[in-house]
Amino acid sequence: PVNSPDDVLESAEAADVRFVRLQFTDLNGMLKSVEIPAHQLRVALEHGVMFDGSSVEGFVRIEESDMYLAPDPATWHVLPWTTGDRRVARLICDVCLPDGRPFAGDPRTILRMAQKRAAQQGFSDFRVGLEAEFFLLALDASRRASVRPSDRSGYFDLVTTDVGERCRQDIVMTLQHMGFAVGTAHHEVSPGQHEIDLLPLSALAAADQYMTFKLVVKTIARRHGLHATFMPKPLYGTDGSGLHCRQSLVQDGRSVFSDAADPLGLSPQARHYVAGLLAHARALTAITNPVVNSYKRLVPGYEAPAYITWAANHPSPLVRTTVLADDAWIELRSPDPACNPYLAFAGMLAAGLDGMTSEQVPPPPANVDVHALSDEERLSRGIYRLPANLEQALEALEEDFILQEALGDHAISRLVRTRMLEWDAYRRTVHAWEHEQYLDL
Ligand code: GLU
Ligand code: MG
Ligand code: MG
Repeated sequence: PVNSPDDVLESAEAADVRFVRLQFTDLNGMLKSVEIPAHQLRVALEHGVMFDGSSVEGFVRIEESDMYLAPDPATWHVLPWTTGDRRVARLICDVCLPDGRPFAGDPRTILRMAQKRAAQQGFSDFRVGLEAEFFLLALDASRRASVRPSDRSGYFDLVTTDVGERCRQDIVMTLQHMGFAVGTAHHEVSPGQHEIDLLPLSALAAADQYMTFKLVVKTIARRHGLHATFMPKPLYGTDGSGLHCRQSLVQDGRSVFSDAADPLGLSPQARHYVAGLLAHARALTAITNPVVNSYKRLVPGYEAPAYITWAANHPSPLVRTTVLADDAWIELRSPDPACNPYLAFAGMLAAGLDGMTSEQVPPPPANVDVHALSDEERLSRGIYRLPANLEQALEALEEDFILQEALGDHAISRLVRTRMLEWDAYRRTVHAWEHEQYLDL
């Protein structure tokens, strides 16, 4: 493992790296990078690299544009698909102000702060495992993404000759080559849809890993003549893509969520954490499901959650608990691949910790198909809907002071503003569906 600047320099030399990409993530969850020639690496590691923060969505205004990227040596990776005189490596960076202080709007810094608050409450680690879903689409004649899936298969189908399967295997091999721990990989429900599970890591490393995962998936897909999309709901009438997040809080080397004496295997703290996730669910959705299209996935009928419920081992609640031997995990099933993982993990942690601090108690687990209940039955059980669209989610976020505090004023105000503009653009657009529906009026 690479840990120090010297390790990085040594590895760069050994792998004959020519360029280094300094990566960071903007508030919208987009991976950004600045490239330096390899001979600048030592200086970059020692002093950071200046860049113009005003050109990054949601960062700062022109007047305060000078910012620094401070590379994190632990994130060093030589990109395995690059070769020869184009051999490229990357480092993920913290975004800093000119005086060296961490920038409050940097998603990595925001997640680190959230982890620090957990540490202050006695938890040595917050771990996140990911069920990462995506679609592989065919390219059209001009090599642009089409909305045709790469195959016609379904869940767990064994179609070893399919180009999508070969592509997924290459993705897994590349991730393993880079040292990432991949769990299972399989075809998902929709044609062209795949899932790769990334084993739990400490939250910051898990978020870094997911950003890298997306880059790997997109790059390898292109090499197979496919387009990988992380759009939450690319096709009407079939499943969308989720990013289920399995979480655990660690104390004295073990998950505080498990309790062998409990019928469900869950500790009281696990129940408080679940209650916190449920209590903040509506506002959290603005962070875990940040685009207009996200809300087309959160509808009944496609294994995505639409209601605020929890259950153990039931297929589609919002929050699902899983207990394996004496290890318990709490899985939030609303997040989708369009989210900024740093902000999503910081938000989930803050919601769960709030539940623990105020010892909130969740309603009884909903071991029924909530979608099959009538509106009255749901109401009488206290089961409420997730926001139906981005606007409702943003309104909930504007009323949630715990999440606002966790993400900080800078990120929240920028986020609400850019997301609201997106909602407004969508709201004003006349869509194809409306033509079909209304042209004959
Ligand atoms: N694709 C589903 C979703 O949108 C999840 C399917 C599953 O449970 O793996 O969340
Ligand atoms: Mg899945
Ligand atoms: Mg799941």
